[in-house]
Amino acid sequence: MPFTPFHFGPGLLIKTLTGRMFWLTPFVTANVLIDVEVLYYLWMRSRPFHRYAHSYLGGIVAGLLAGAGTFAVAMFVARVWPGRWSFLPTAKSSKPLLLFQSITAGLVGGISHIFLDSLVHAEIEPFWPFATGNELAGLVSGRIVYLSLVLFGLLGGCIWLQEYLAADR
Ligand SMILES: [Zn+2]
Repeated sequence: MPFTPFHFGPGLLIKTLTGRMFWLTPFVTANVLIDVEVLYYLWMRSRPFHRYAHSYLGGIVAGLLAGAGTFAVAMFVARVWPGRWSFLPTAKSSKPLLLFQSITAGLVGGISHIFLDSLVHAEIEPFWPFATGNELAGLVSGRIVYLSLVLFGLLGGCIWLQEYLAADR
């Protein structure tokens, strides 16, 4: 989907419901990584725009990369500027947990991207390279998919705002 920001809606909602357990950065990064493919083929004017990255395999790879990359950057910042990000514990024992959270958020981003895009774009082959075709395309109208993503985002934003205002009191 070249409309990458639509994918951020569900992430924002999960984030507001789960708080620090869910990392928004790897979620967003995975979605952006996957849509770089669409941008590239749009730029090259070569159809189909959705290819290998737009498969569950591609989504998982993008999720792992985004999760590992975010974790690496977070660890680097924690080392160079200790105390810069308060949410990063300094204890070594918590690193596996942080890595797990980062990878999980990346995978949720990557896999949800493929699922949502496969509802809208008939050219996507979600089970590449194991199977061809896309059974889900057209099952739900594209407008409904986009609208629900926006609503997810708005709902997430409202919950966040409410919590923010409550904490400020
Ligand atoms: Zn996409």
